[in-house]
Amino acid sequence: MKISGIEARIVRVPADEPLAGGPTPPGALRDIVTLRVRTDQGIEGVGYTFFGAALTGALRQAVESLGALAIGEDPLRIEAIHAKLRAAAAGSGPGGILTLALSAIDIALWDIKGKAVDQPVWQLAGGCRDRVPAYASGALMRTFPLDHLVKAGPKLVEKGFRQMKTQLALPGETSPRVEEERIRRMREAIGPDIDLMCDINQRWRVEQAVDIGSRIEDVGLYWLEDVTTADDFQGLARVSAALSTPVAGGEYLYGPAPFRQMMEARSVDIVMIDLMRAGGITGWLKIAGMAEAYNLPVVSHLVPEIHVHLVAAIPHGLTVEYMPWTFALFEEVPVPVKGELTVPRKPGLGLAFDEKAIRRYSG
Ligand SMILES: [Mg+2]
Repeated sequence: MKISGIEARIVRVPADEPLAGGPTPPGALRDIVTLRVRTDQGIEGVGYTFFGAALTGALRQAVESLGALAIGEDPLRIEAIHAKLRAAAAGSGPGGILTLALSAIDIALWDIKGKAVDQPVWQLAGGCRDRVPAYASGALMRTFPLDHLVKAGPKLVEKGFRQMKTQLALPGETSPRVEEERIRRMREAIGPDIDLMCDINQRWRVEQAVDIGSRIEDVGLYWLEDVTTADDFQGLARVSAALSTPVAGGEYLYGPAPFRQMMEARSVDIVMIDLMRAGGITGWLKIAGMAEAYNLPVVSHLVPEIHVHLVAAIPHGLTVEYMPWTFALFEEVPVPVKGELTVPRKPGLGLAFDEKAIRRYSG
């Protein structure tokens, strides 16, 4: 089998919050680069990537340029294609747009591989379980008023979610007392039996993370995420050592190599892997293997429609972030039942682009 053609386009999907009807700004959009990889045997793979923001045009161009270099290659030789494209891009990597673009191609190649052997990706990648927990994400944001949060949390519980994530490091005027008050009100609203995660998105300094993290230990967070600058591995390790609350991190790192430093420094208790920054499914699985060797559980960042495969594939996958940023692209996406996702049964990723939606949102 040979790759016969590729097609990359920019799709701008609405940035809404469908899980609990969050107050998102009208007209807000998220830019996604979609990719189709065609083969001479009629099998087509779907891929996508994002995080380009103002550079989304450059990201699409990178996907197209790299994709063109893959034409004529055997799509099942994924590592060989990675090596060829990385070499061609030379010093423009290793992270950034190069990795984001490679991820789109890698995802499409895994989709082709699954379709070629008539197996879903979760089974090809390890096939550990056929159901995984999923947590509601994006519905309890720091920009939303507390009044909304205390209603949205119970609404998610009614929908069957047993786990959900909120955020601290509040915008505008805040203080350790204000931060503490907000997370306590959130916990009261959902009760003691729901797993509550909290994301800081790198907004605290190390000593703030230790201070506020210590004040809220008894809230019993399931994890506290990205408590300070993501590549301050030693700073993160200080926070992890100081708190009994598990510290999660990793979504901002590009490719497997920095994860080695993060894990060696004992920076986090839970390893979060972002599919696009990891270098696609190939990179994601390598990082997950490293986490297993360090006796650390793995969780996913965004794209639940693919991460359901990956978290289910490995023995130490903890939960899937159910954040529906990319759902508008597809005809069908996995939906949690009682807080759990069941793995797709169709070959490959089991995803088909919704042609009408892609046309409507194309930029
Ligand atoms: Mg995060």
